[in-house]
Amino acid sequence: MPRLIIRSSDIHAAGCFALEDIPKGTRVLEYTGERISKAEGDDRYEGRPYTYLFGVGDGEVVIDGHGMAMFVNHSCDPNCETDEEGDRVFIASIADIRAGDELTYDYCLYDGDDDAPCFCGSKGCRGSMYSPEELKKKSRAEAKKKKQAELAAKKNGASPQSASGTRSATRKKP
Ligand SMILES: [Zn+2]
Repeated sequence: MPRLIIRSSDIHAAGCFALEDIPKGTRVLEYTGERISKAEGDDRYEGRPYTYLFGVGDGEVVIDGHGMAMFVNHSCDPNCETDEEGDRVFIASIADIRAGDELTYDYCLYDGDDDAPCFCGSKGCRGSMYSPEELKKKSRAEAKKKKQAELAAKKNGASPQSASGTRSATRKKP
């Protein structure tokens, strides 16, 4: 595996940078960490703005990221992608990376209750770390909630209760 370093990043806090040139198609890191259930992940990260959960397979099992790979930042125009092999997740380059470049992949977040704004600065930035499908789902859910709130307000002036418990946004292979 190529040599990498964690240092401060313009995208977010700390990031993972290449110390040598990495050709396209190279496996650079494994997403290591404890395997836990999605429910356990929600408990662990309740009320925390950032999670390091990575959904494996059907998403019932998540990896609670611990190690170098958890520092790799999101970008909407990334130079890496994730690669599942059984229950293991690897990060591999999808472009030639030069020494000094920051490694990024698309988090494709899903299932979270918090906003996850993106500051990657790429031309095609979608402004969020959620996957495009998840953003569509969220805007449909938002419209439905608004409609229900209007109906409820018409009926008795009460606003509907929101569901309790927050879900933690989870990273996913696109
Ligand atoms: Zn972005």
